[in-house]
Order: sequence, then structure tokens, then C-alpha cells
Amino acid sequence: MSRGRRILGAVMFMCVAIGIGWWQSSRTPVFPELQGPLHITTVADPTPTLISDYPGSGKHSVAIWVNDPDSSWLGLAMGFKSIGLPFRLVSDVDQALEHKVIMVYPSLTGGNTTPDELSRLRDHVGAGGTLVGFSVIGGGMSSLFGFQQSAEHAVRSQLEFQDSPLTAGMIESKVERTIRLGDTTEADSGLPGTHYTGAEQVVAQFEDGSAAVTYKAMPRNGTNEGVGHAYAFGLDIGHFMLRAFNGRFANMADTYVNAYQPQVDIFLRVLLRIYQQGEPDAVTLSPTPHGKAFTALLTHDVDFTRSINNIADYVALETRFGVPATYFIQTKYMTDYNDRQFFNPSRAETLKLLIDRGMEIASHTVAHSNEFSRMPVGSGDEQYPAYQPFVRDFATVENASMMGELRVSKFLLDSLSGTQIVSFRPGHLSLPEPLPQLLVANGYRFSSSMTANEAMTHLPFRLSHDRSYGRQVNAYEFPVTIEDEQGSLTARFDEIVALSNQIGQYQGLVMLMIHTDMLGEKLEFVERYLTHFYDTAWFDTVSGYGNWWAARESVVTDVVDASADSLRLRINAAQALDGLTLRVPDGWQYNAGLEGTRQIGELVILGRVDGRAELLFTR
Ligand SMILES: [Zn+2]
Repeated sequence: MSRGRRILGAVMFMCVAIGIGWWQSSRTPVFPELQGPLHITTVADPTPTLISDYPGSGKHSVAIWVNDPDSSWLGLAMGFKSIGLPFRLVSDVDQALEHKVIMVYPSLTGGNTTPDELSRLRDHVGAGGTLVGFSVIGGGMSSLFGFQQSAEHAVRSQLEFQDSPLTAGMIESKVERTIRLGDTTEADSGLPGTHYTGAEQVVAQFEDGSAAVTYKAMPRNGTNEGVGHAYAFGLDIGHFMLRAFNGRFANMADTYVNAYQPQVDIFLRVLLRIYQQGEPDAVTLSPTPHGKAFTALLTHDVDFTRSINNIADYVALETRFGVPATYFIQTKYMTDYNDRQFFNPSRAETLKLLIDRGMEIASHTVAHSNEFSRMPVGSGDEQYPAYQPFVRDFATVENASMMGELRVSKFLLDSLSGTQIVSFRPGHLSLPEPLPQLLVANGYRFSSSMTANEAMTHLPFRLSHDRSYGRQVNAYEFPVTIEDEQGSLTARFDEIVALSNQIGQYQGLVMLMIHTDMLGEKLEFVERYLTHFYDTAWFDTVSGYGNWWAARESVVTDVVDASADSLRLRINAAQALDGLTLRVPDGWQYNAGLEGTRQIGELVILGRVDGRAELLFTR
């Protein structure tokens, strides 16, 4: 190419570029009245989450004796909050011994525990208490736990539960029994573990058949009454859960979405059962309100012209059932590769309809690009109308930033609906590392940005800064369980019912993601699902359940004034909530204490708790 032609080419390119720039800047904005947001978004520096950030429950809860504050104890704390297992984090043996069920984390060794402490733990089990030791090495504790020797191993690829009374009725299918610990596509991928040889009873084993979890029942000292329980765990479950919650396990789940994938939940349920076995006054918190079997969140992604046109039909159906749903709406004010512009002032009516019918409006970004997770973070001063992201093709987006997607979509939805948007879902579930802190910085509290299968849990959980370990943010994830793109919903209906019932075994979350891009089959599915589960499931919006969930996380419980035939259960909730559901021991009968409270078998469904409440029980 000659120099002259190069110059000519450059000049032509500049003319075209200037021409496009002029055309873009001279266009009348879609919302001529709107400009904003006017404030600058700043992201808070990460702060380490401390043990003192978790107010403990009373002496009838589990004591987690954390003997290394730099460990992944936060994973246990987050997981216990999610499943509803009350606990207190303690830092010495005296505090631990105030509880019947003690977990020693992350390890119980001759190096980190004095002979006196070990002897007191041994006496605790001898007196009918329960001890769960993680990574039990040396220290002369092997006879207490009922194994001969233990050793560490750098890479474990799988853990498999055996049939035992502890797991009876809980672990039946392969996906419940076998927990993968490494990436299936990579050789030598896995997690470190401690294995135990010569174990009296094996609860779970590693891939080579060595014991991963052991159990020993110890007769009570000097009598034949009752037994103490000693469990040795060979896997760092706190670390496992932190990684799962942060979406840091690649290729560990069997499936991406639309299937039961409860690895985190199985560990939590096993630990919850150990608590119930060892604490006669065990009270646990259901993850679902109002005594229902599970929580179902009906959510709709609105990301095409026809999708926004169809909203009224979905709203009409849901209104007929009196069930609120969440609409994740893309604020698409520009035309690009994905579709024509469809979010404009004429949509104010649709937003008003949603608000009037008690539906939640939520953000589904501006650009809906699969590249969301690779966009620059942005400056925090992105504003409508100057922010003009442009999707060139599936893998290319221009002029876009994470901040812009979060800020500008919220600004437009807030402005047009007259409400505060607090829930967010990215297009294509594209999940950037800084998303948790960017959500909080931009005024969001609830995220639905990954699948339950990626997180390997069917429970909501707290988010962490940069999706890393040890620095929580004030926001929660509600992962997607069921979506509508993997085959016909009609054909999958029975499968979806079965999956919902599996999650109902522990009152978990079923998050349904149904695009409103068509009526017909999808609308019929929603009607069928609502009809099927109307009486048994708790239906709510993401923010409705999210606010309840955040309040539930603040709950601590305490059994006081317990006598042979009565007791008081003290509840403290930093945020008010209705319908908190407790599972109480056999034989407890609720008498009085809190207006609107009722009991159905072992479930006690509470009236409104705002601050402190006391329930009187007889037994
Ligand atoms: Zn979408």
C-alpha cells in the first residue's frame, strides 16, 4: 500500500469515526428528561470479617472452637447461617466446654492443643458430650475418636459417604453420596485431606478407601446411660464451602443448572444432624418462612422487545394466584447486535403495572453482554445518556463498564418506577470477580448471578469481596435452580417437580428463571408450577425473601430457665421478620410469648419478631 493511499485511508476512517460520533451525540436521548445518576459511586475498601462480627447463640448451640483465626472458619459460619444451625465462635476450651456439641476447627493436634485441653475434651465426651475434630493429628486423641493413626495427603479427589445411622434417609442418590473434590478435566486436581486408619466406624471415605470421616460412640463414664459422640473429619469443610460460595470450583459439579447438586448442603445437613444427636435442646432455623416446604422465587428475565411486550400476560397470571414475581429488566435504550432499543418512556406503564401488582422490578443490565465479566470496572461516574454501551457481537462490547451496567440500569429503573431497585442479575450469568462489592457500592443487596450447581448449594448465602475468602459484603446470592432454555418446560415438568421436592427435604431455595420472550408453553409452565406447589411452597420476590433472609441471618437463639418440664426460648433478631420457622425437639409444646405464633408438630412458626422475643415451652 502506498503512503498516499494510507493517508487517504486514515482520513476516510477519521471522517467515518467523526460522522458516527456526530450522529450519536446529535441523536435525541431516548429519555430526554433524564440525566444521571448525579452522585459518584465509590467502592468501599475490603474489610476482614472478624469472629466478633458473628454474635453467638446460647449454650445450647454448637461451639466452634477456632484455633486458627486465619483459617476458613468463615465458610463454616456462612454455611451454618444458611442451613440454620445456631452456633457460637469461641477461642478457648473454657468457652467451648459450656456447650454440649463442640467442633474444633481447623485442626485438633498435639501441636495446637495442650495435654490439659485434650484431657478436658476427652472428659467432655466421656460425660456424654459431642466432639467434632477437624484434621485430627497426633496428640494422643486417636483412641477417643476410634482410629489408630492419621496422616495428611496433599490431593484428595473424592469423598464418599457410607451407609450409617448418621446419614440414614439423607444420603440415597449418587449425587448425595459422592462429593467430588477436584476438577474432573485436570489430572491431580483436588483438595488436601487427613485420612484415618484403623477406624472403628467409617462415616465417609476418600477415593482410595481410606477413612475421611470417623465416628466413635463412648459410653458415659461410670454409667450405662447415654453416650458421648466423637467424630473426626478429614476434610476442611470451611474451605470447601467458601470456595463453593465464591464460585471458585471449576468443573466440580455434574451439571450446570436444572439439576440437584447439593454437595455443600449435604455437609451442612450431616453437621446439623450431629448437633441434633448431641444436644437434647437443639433448635434449628428453617431456611424457608411460614412453615412451608421450600421457597420458590419466580423470576423473569426481560431482554427482548417481545419479552417486555409479554410482561402484562405474566403479571395477569401471577396476580390471579396472588403470587409476586421478580422481573429482571434490561434497560436497553440503544440498538445493537442483540436487538433494537426497547426500553423507552412508553415502558413506564409496564413498570407501573408491575409496582401496582406487587411485583419486584430488578436490573438485568443495560447492554446484556456476555462480556460483562471482562469489562473494565469503570470510573463510577457513568451517567445516562452519555453512557452508550454497544454490543458488536456475542463476544464484543464497546464503551461499556461494570459500573455503567449497574449504575445506569438502576438509575433508569429507579427513576421510571419511583422505587429503589435492590436486586440484580447479569446477562448470561456473566460473573465478574468484583461484582459483590460493586453491587453494594451501587445500592444493590440481592444478586442472582450464578447457578445453584456452580455454588453446589440450594441455599442462599452471603457474598464476599472479589469473590474471595474472608471479607464479606452486605449482599446475598440467590442462585438459579431452574431455567427455560435447556429443552421444553412441558417435557421437563415432572423432573422439575422432583427437583423441587428434593430441595424441599431441607426447606431450600428453588429459583426459577423464566424468560418472558414467549407466552404459550412458558406461561403454561408457570401456571402449572404455581398450581402444583401453591399450598406447599413459599412464593416471594427476590427482595421480599432477601430482606427476610438477611433478618434471619441476624437471629440468635438461647434456651434459658430450662427445667425438666419447661423452658424459655429467647430469640434476638437485629432486623424484624415474620414467619421465622423453628424446628424444636420432640415433646416441646409452645405455650405463650409471641403473638401470632403457632406450632405444627416439631415446627414452630413465629409471629413478628422485632428485636427480642421469648417463647415459653412445656415438655
Ligand atoms: Zn437475559
